[in-house]
Amino acid sequence: MHSRLSLRNITKRYPGIVANDGVSMDIDPGEVLAVLGENGAGKSTLMKIIYGATRPDEGEVYFDGKKLDVASPAEARSLGIAMVHQHFALFDTLTVAENVALGLTRPMSIAEISEEVKRLGERYGLEVDPAGIVMELSMGERQRVEIIRALMTNPKLLILDEPTSVLTPQAVKKLFVTLHQLASEGVSILFISHKLDEIRELADRCVVLRAGKIVTSVDPKKETEQSLARLMIGAEP
Ligand code: ATP
Repeated sequence: MHSRLSLRNITKRYPGIVANDGVSMDIDPGEVLAVLGENGAGKSTLMKIIYGATRPDEGEVYFDGKKLDVASPAEARSLGIAMVHQHFALFDTLTVAENVALGLTRPMSIAEISEEVKRLGERYGLEVDPAGIVMELSMGERQRVEIIRALMTNPKLLILDEPTSVLTPQAVKKLFVTLHQLASEGVSILFISHKLDEIRELADRCVVLRAGKIVTSVDPKKETEQSLARLMIGAEP
């Protein structure tokens, strides 16, 4: 079986800086992969390349065995790559269903969307009222809307940027149950985090980015928080 996503020698330069420097990595169907790195290590840039928000200067992206040149996040969504942003990209004054409507790859009525929001909510523990106005929702509920919006496109790869940064501990627990369920159904989960305890709990594997390069790939459950922190900053054990 081939990897779901393979990156080969991805390089992205900005004036005066190499944000990604020859990055190669793979993620399998149903795998939960964490990308760990200090501020400025190049994590966001790498995610942006995968979900089509920016293009690499060099290197190739393969998805389900096909070479891709993802030109936009909309194209990524239609290919099965969905992104859940750290700062939710929702319109505060619109309802949940209206926000979901804005991310669709095919047209659906608000009634159809509301049914689907309820169905996905029940199936994945993402309960939220489709008629609720976003500004009245908690952070956990807003994130559920973002995840539902991503799931509407049947993603094979779900990317999450620091998914727990604005959540209560209870909402974090709920999120992890949802992500484990999605992974058990074959969805690949790729997430960025600085939180070593959460990486150990959630991820099957962790790649460490330092100054734009992947320096190692480890099983985080076999590491301690201290050893992960050392890997991140490049300190000797
Ligand atoms: P953080 O944890 O702070 O989000 P990161 O690991 O996600 O950091 P990136 O945001 O990918 O890192 O940034 C990697 C490097 O590229 C940084 O030095 C950053 O300043 C630079 N960079 C990122 N985006 C741009 C841009 N659009 N223009 C210029 N430089 C950029």
